[in-house]
Amino acid sequence: MFPKRLSDGYQAFLSGRFHNERIRYEQLGELGQSPEILLIGCCDSRVSPEVIFDAGPGEMFVIRNVANLVPPYEREAESSSYHGTSAAIEFAVNALDVKHIVVLGHASCGGVRAVFDDVEPLTKIDFVGKWVSQIVPVADSLPRTGDRAIDVQRLEWAVVGHSLANLMTFPSIRARVEQGKLELHGAYFGVATGLLFLRDPATGEFSPCPSR
Ligand SMILES: [Zn+2]
Repeated sequence: MFPKRLSDGYQAFLSGRFHNERIRYEQLGELGQSPEILLIGCCDSRVSPEVIFDAGPGEMFVIRNVANLVPPYEREAESSSYHGTSAAIEFAVNALDVKHIVVLGHASCGGVRAVFDDVEPLTKIDFVGKWVSQIVPVADSLPRTGDRAIDVQRLEWAVVGHSLANLMTFPSIRARVEQGKLELHGAYFGVATGLLFLRDPATGEFSPCPSR
């Protein structure tokens, strides 16, 4: 049975947001999408990008995966794997011609913690373990202070930097960035605090998003 929570939510959407933004939806349906922002975030149910950034329909092209990771560029011919995240990135950059890419990390990320704590695989196949193993060299490169909260947050921030660095391994992204047609940004959502931090590209440090 379809969850009642969803059918109720849909009715609320239909009479609320869809009703109020009907023209916008009609235009998007007829003309197609042309978002200027690609956002790469975590699957975590607490970190919905459209909610955090108050985004309307058609404004953000969103990719969500465990721990907001971007794998390094890899030509399909060189690998037998499927590349869901890379395919979506390629579409957003090459077909939609987005102007900004935002990698959004967040507090208490389960995928990052799994690496930090070196947890046992979930299953024999363990897709999560393989996926987040990309973070292991990042974790190994960070000196630990011994303060767990600080060390986990440092790793969560470093993972955002890691994904941004991997974005630059995509030739079409590098070319657009160097031509000034595309900007990359790192951000981090505090969940419990509601605070948004922005990454300084020069230092890799995060600081609170200035309020207007
Ligand atoms: Zn997460």
